[in-house]
Amino acid sequence: MPDGAARALDAVRGRIASACARSGRDPGAVALVAVSKTFPAERVREMLALGQTVFGENRVQEALDKIPLVGAGASWHLVGHLQSNKAKRAVGTFDLIHSVDGADLAREIDRRAAERGIVQPVLVQVNLSREATKSGAAEEETAALLEALASLPHLDLRGLMTIPPPAEDAEEVRPWFAALRELRDRAEPLLGRKLPDLSMGMTDDFEVAVEEGSTLIRVGRALFGER
Ligand SMILES: *Cc1c(COP(=O)(O)O)cnc(C)c1O
Repeated sequence: MPDGAARALDAVRGRIASACARSGRDPGAVALVAVSKTFPAERVREMLALGQTVFGENRVQEALDKIPLVGAGASWHLVGHLQSNKAKRAVGTFDLIHSVDGADLAREIDRRAAERGIVQPVLVQVNLSREATKSGAAEEETAALLEALASLPHLDLRGLMTIPPPAEDAEEVRPWFAALRELRDRAEPLLGRKLPDLSMGMTDDFEVAVEEGSTLIRVGRALFGER
């Protein structure tokens, strides 16, 4: 259904542009990560042909299976939880790992990146709402974790990621997005470096996330349909 894919992509891009216009932001500062988990490589290739180049997966194995089938031209991000024993396969596969949530995992990624002679871009996932079912560092642990990561030479610490609790209305999650931005703004002077990226916003709330400063929105269903 190529027409469907083109329409969905145009619609999402239009909504990003409107949210940027409302909040005085440059649309070029918001990257769309098309979350392709559960969808086959053909659907990814269709999006790639339409000019969408960044894709998100939440499982390392699914991504490793899909990447060769999609072929050149795509950039892959890991948006789901990463276990330390899969760090070796994730490093170098993903251009950005959104889900670093502890110092042990960070050290393992650093070690694997060193082995490969690369620097791995990462975000720290923060569990602001403290939901037990969700991964992510606790807010009060974040500053120390960021400091530990900043000292690892084979990690490129780019910023923060969060997933807010489920809500009926996107406006209900606005405070979580604002809180992530404020946490970033407080961390930068402590670290003495910029944390340019905020990964926040999914199908049901990406416009609010853009208004609150998101630089990476992770959108699945609005592009690919229901899973
Ligand atoms: C699945 C997933 C998304 C995309 O969710 P949609 O509601 O389909 O837009 C974004 N982020 C993460 C971490 C996900 O697992």
